[in-house]
Amino acid sequence: MNTQANQPTPQKHSFQAEVKQVLDIVIHSLYTHKEIFVRELISNAADALEKIRHEKLVNKSIADPGLALEIDIDIDEDAKTITITDAGIGMTEEEVKENLGAIAHSGTKKYLEALKEASSGGAVELIGQFGVGFYSSFMVAKTVTVETRSFHPDAQGILWTSEGEGEYTLEHKDDLKRGSKITLSLRDDAHEYASADTIKKTVQKYSNFVPFPIKINGEAVNTIQAIWTRNKNEITDEEYTEFYKFIGNAHDEPAFHLHFSVDVPIMLNALLFAPKTNIEQFGFGKMDPGVNLYCRKVLIQQHSDVILPEWLRFVKGVIDSEDLPLNISRETLQDNALIRKLRKVVTSRFLKFLGETYKTDRKSYNEFWKTHGMFLKQGVIDDFDYRSDIAPLLMFESSLTESGEQISLQEYVDRMPTGQDRIFYISGPSRDTIQSGPYMEAFLKKNIEVLYLYEPIDDFVLNAVREFDKKQLVSADQGDLDLPDSPETDETPKPEETLSKDDSDILCGWMKGILGEKVTAVRKSSRLVGSPAMIVCSDSQMNASMQRVMQSINKGMPSMGANSLEINPTHPILLQVSKLKHEGADEDFLKSAVEHIYENAMVDAGLIADPRIMVKRNYDILAKALGAKKETSSDD
Ligand code: ADP
Repeated sequence: MNTQANQPTPQKHSFQAEVKQVLDIVIHSLYTHKEIFVRELISNAADALEKIRHEKLVNKSIADPGLALEIDIDIDEDAKTITITDAGIGMTEEEVKENLGAIAHSGTKKYLEALKEASSGGAVELIGQFGVGFYSSFMVAKTVTVETRSFHPDAQGILWTSEGEGEYTLEHKDDLKRGSKITLSLRDDAHEYASADTIKKTVQKYSNFVPFPIKINGEAVNTIQAIWTRNKNEITDEEYTEFYKFIGNAHDEPAFHLHFSVDVPIMLNALLFAPKTNIEQFGFGKMDPGVNLYCRKVLIQQHSDVILPEWLRFVKGVIDSEDLPLNISRETLQDNALIRKLRKVVTSRFLKFLGETYKTDRKSYNEFWKTHGMFLKQGVIDDFDYRSDIAPLLMFESSLTESGEQISLQEYVDRMPTGQDRIFYISGPSRDTIQSGPYMEAFLKKNIEVLYLYEPIDDFVLNAVREFDKKQLVSADQGDLDLPDSPETDETPKPEETLSKDDSDILCGWMKGILGEKVTAVRKSSRLVGSPAMIVCSDSQMNASMQRVMQSINKGMPSMGANSLEINPTHPILLQVSKLKHEGADEDFLKSAVEHIYENAMVDAGLIADPRIMVKRNYDILAKALGAKKETSSDD
């Protein structure tokens, strides 16, 4: 008998505030898929068994070493109770308090946010993904008891009891075997779950691949084979899907799966899935990695953060390598040479697989790209090692595609006319904005394809890729572009009037004097067709869109980077400014006009920070144009 066991009465404890909120929602909302509590409790039991299996390998002294590693579900149809017993790792008193009464993880908060955002009950099904699955038992139970004893040989047995409303009680309990036994006393409106048949169906639906026998009232009900070690010709699509749902705690179908084995440079079996949906797109924050690491079917690390790069965190599945030492500690995984090898092999293979899908099943690839492209883009930026492997997988709209249709860099290169030696791109918030801006004028006229980038990250991605198929990637808002001529250009009628070289040199010098430090230079443009002027970036490292991103980060800062102003020597506005200047017209008004041309060009580049000065000047110019007597400007 354990001397520290003598606790006279059960001790009352309060749940931590966030746990109370989760419980309140779980208890009082109406959910359609209440049966998921079975999956959550089985998954906890299986985790505890995985841990003890691992512990047995590395630690000689554990309590009750002879207990069978299985999950027993006992249903008392008359008493309306369900009991789930595992001989897993168990919990100490401290662990019980921490794990079942407080927030051991940030998951609770995230889950609450997700529940608040989702208007329907759908989000409740995500409960397991947020690390608060245990509480789902209160969807069906009026009382939950947990009897548990940790695997440490001298651990004290604990009885935890709660009705879910604010408090739980703890007391010491002797004579418990290692592991945990969870008993649910069902609510009146949940008596339907006191049925072995119902629970069996649920187990087979959600927990069929749990790698330990699950027994219901003594009868084994699940398939325990490790599917990833089986021959892929013998596995049906349904089995793959079922396994995906199990391993990914998922409700969608997988977009595709990749099942392979490798012998050199390292032995491994891998079964990987790409999901159809991406919860990060719905603003749920960064997801945890989804691949579990096994060694000879023994779980080494769940949701492993070492086995794939972070940008592949959307991938779900299993990697099993018998070359890993079984007793490898979780702490040393990070800098293990074998793991690094494994990571390289699997990452390269996965990217190769995406490349094959792109070639053989474009429709699926396009879907994949739409939901998961953001991860590959992150890979380009974060991971120099795989940059050139990811580059062929990138997709963008372009000036020659339909809206919504995307092409790869290879497709761009394949249809480049002879004489073109660079890949052009331009970024902007939408197709319409890009096409109506000044940057596309020359490209559209010369029929040179330009990739359209709609996401702020895209510029950084292509800037990192730098070149593809030996062709440099160039932002179309750069100065000195020197575009190749096309036959069409020569056929277009020359504008009637253009500034002479002298006049345009004088005009440029004078404008630079007015604009001062705002621009590095004012130059005559050879690209502009219909617009009077445009901002071009003199700094190839920092184009306008990157400046926009930096500006939004450093709020209120003036635009960064070196910009020049290119003017259109055939545009009536510039012709007229030059003429009036020669004639010695109202200097202040001409200066206003120059400032205004510059600021309009900044707006076109998406770089204007404060529109107020522009608006005021607009009124001044309008007043002048209308011949209004009283100027709106004050005396400043
Ligand atoms: P999650 O399992 O996602 O971490 P839960 O709310 O389901 O979240 O469980 C919280 C924690 O309680 C688990 O992480 C685990 O440490 C502990 N736990 C739950 N069930 C068991 C069990 N049967 N055996 C041992 N520990 C358990």
